[in-house]
Amino acid sequence: MTFQPGTPDHPLRIAIFGSGPAAFYAADALFKQTNLTVEIDMYDRLPTPYGLVRGGVAPDHPKIKTVTKVYDRTAEDPRFRFYGNVELGRDVTHDELLRYYHQILYCTGAQTDRKMDIPGEDLPGSYPATEFVGWYNAHPDYRDLTFDLSQERVAVVGNGNVAMDVVRILASTYDELAKTDIADYALEALRNSKVKEIYILGRRGPAQAAYTNPELKELGELAGADVVVSQADATIDPLSAADMERNPDRIAEKNVETLQGYAATTPSGRPRKIVMRFLVSPIEIIGSEHVEAVKLVHNELVLSDDGTLRPRASAQTEILPVGLIFRSIGYRGVKLPGVPFDDRHGVITNIEGRVIDTHSQLPLKGEYVAGWIKRGPSGIIGTNKPDSVATVNAMLADAKEGMVNEPEQPARAAVEAFIESRQPDVVSFDDWKLLDQEEVARGTAVGRPRIKFSRIADMIGFIKSKKGVPTPSGD
Ligand code: NAP
Repeated sequence: MTFQPGTPDHPLRIAIFGSGPAAFYAADALFKQTNLTVEIDMYDRLPTPYGLVRGGVAPDHPKIKTVTKVYDRTAEDPRFRFYGNVELGRDVTHDELLRYYHQILYCTGAQTDRKMDIPGEDLPGSYPATEFVGWYNAHPDYRDLTFDLSQERVAVVGNGNVAMDVVRILASTYDELAKTDIADYALEALRNSKVKEIYILGRRGPAQAAYTNPELKELGELAGADVVVSQADATIDPLSAADMERNPDRIAEKNVETLQGYAATTPSGRPRKIVMRFLVSPIEIIGSEHVEAVKLVHNELVLSDDGTLRPRASAQTEILPVGLIFRSIGYRGVKLPGVPFDDRHGVITNIEGRVIDTHSQLPLKGEYVAGWIKRGPSGIIGTNKPDSVATVNAMLADAKEGMVNEPEQPARAAVEAFIESRQPDVVSFDDWKLLDQEEVARGTAVGRPRIKFSRIADMIGFIKSKKGVPTPSGD
């Protein structure tokens, strides 16, 4: 007879790695199961939960962040535990975890960026947008970076929503940013920014942009910046026009309309200018010690075999003088130690959420994946809900068949003692709530929504002080 955990005496014990949207939607779907006793331990390498909702969503998009209230309800479930400040590979290994859980679900997102692979990309002054986003959102990994905001001309490569976020933050006034929960050091650095002109470089045309229309419109609503689009850039070429007729796309239609509106508007002389360029690709970043310019090739669109319009380089090039360049051409997943990885696509090797052994091509018993590290960095927060539910369905189907890992020590207390032995500074959800309340209190005191902790040592020190735990320095 196959062993089926999931009863009150033998709960189905699940570890979820990562605590962003995909992780919480999966936990919620698992808790909703009736006739199944399940316990979930959610791990994060940071002391703080919510993944990209905290470290990625733009500070001036507070409504999007209210989704954490839904996640908090999941976290209040007595079957849920949070183990923050615990890193896979550093504090615990993949094989060790298999001693404690029937199933492991990886929801670690996409933690790095894609590169353009062009000469000069690593010059000082050339940065991935992902690092800038982490920096202004007080992510501990990026808080000590510096960005040369003494430059007047900046290029942002890519036409996605992350590019829009980066441009908005660069173009916002101090007053606009001070209303947000942007990192306090970033607020100060941006207050002194000399940036005057921001070029958004799209390799295809206005009808192929990946950003959504509200984000495009927000650029036109900034107090201190004009949006500039030339008539030539806003004009739709015959191939795009035919494509839009064949495959009507409401977002593309609205974007074209908005861009044509920008092209028809005379700049009002605001201190900053956002210039939107299309059909250009960087082919070299020029500079001796620092970025001085970017060499662009002009593209034309061609119909590819899969029916999409792709960019093809022409013979025409231009030099655009800029002192700072952010590439915003997509996130990329990072390999977890001991977990199969598809390097080409930057995702954990999987078939519909079941982790696949790269050699045997067979599913690894009890290991699953959801979110960006499963399907790649696409979609909005809500896209992760059906994605996680699909993986949970695979987990439940396998559990029903007894296709689970068989841990040596499935008791909850056993893993708790083990984690504490490896990471004495493990952060519980109640500990996180102490940080959360303090961030809000610090913000309220100065008329801001919150002031975020950005150093792990400060977070741990604060939690200890609140709980009356002595620290090495005695404070
Ligand atoms: P994205 O939407 O995939 O956009 C990437 C952009 O980079 C595209 O315009 C793409 O152009 C371009 N690109 C790729 N390779 C390039 C290259 N070698 N040279 C020049 N351009 C290149 O990615 P993202 O902006 O990182 O966003 C990730 C996901 O998060 C998206 O689903 C996005 O909607 C979502 N997000 C949503 C919000 C929001 O809702 N407010 C905010 C941020 C992010 P092609 O189209 O030509 O490939």
